[in-house]
Amino acid sequence: MSDIVKTEAVVLSKINYGDTSSIVSLYTESDGKISAIIKGGRGPKSKIGKIIDPINHLQVIIYKKNTRDVQILSDANLVSHFVNLKEDLDSTKYSFAIIELVKNLTSEHESNYKLFKGLIKILNMINDKKEKPAFLFGRFLLFFLSELGYELSIDKCAICGKDVAANKSVGFDFNTGLICSDCFESHSGLENVSAELFELIFCLKTNRLAEKFNVDLMDKFNLLMERYLKFHVSDFKGIQSFQIYK
Ligand SMILES: [Zn+2]
Repeated sequence: MSDIVKTEAVVLSKINYGDTSSIVSLYTESDGKISAIIKGGRGPKSKIGKIIDPINHLQVIIYKKNTRDVQILSDANLVSHFVNLKEDLDSTKYSFAIIELVKNLTSEHESNYKLFKGLIKILNMINDKKEKPAFLFGRFLLFFLSELGYELSIDKCAICGKDVAANKSVGFDFNTGLICSDCFESHSGLENVSAELFELIFCLKTNRLAEKFNVDLMDKFNLLMERYLKFHVSDFKGIQSFQIYK
């Protein structure tokens, strides 16, 4: 017996399977990340095949059996295909980067309602051009890190516990996070974080506007966080979309 699950989902990836089918990776509201087969999904008459594309937000019906690795997707309806998001290169690059993070760094069958809602929210914000995509990506990245258990603390030095002063440059240790300027000077092999970059991190962490910062600084932060993730997750190879949409 399988359960019939009706849930919302975001398509993370799609591959061909056999002559006519597809296998998709979905991030679902009910069950977190799952794989599902769409039988006959590549046929010209398949309604589901047409709307199952990466990033699309769908309502799906899945026949789920816990003993099976790949579930069966029996029906799908489009909630949004984020039409503006695929219009420009930057929006595409950062949206795919978000999808990649969720696909590569979440576990199968581990539901996380907050992460699902956060994912839908950020894709809508990129689609509605609420802010530059690089900045929205950075905001999502900080949220995602804390959902994964690698939250970045901005108050206390990760080495000595002293307050990290916002007015001077600080340091970054890939093992522990942000550190104060004293510890930065007395330890070797740490990354420098300029006062401006620290201020940007502070704005993102506290949900403030970040209009005054330039995109290069934002990219610097995003790349720093990519390295931080690589340090902590040994099989994470980095964000491919950053290489593809340079
Ligand atoms: Zn310190």
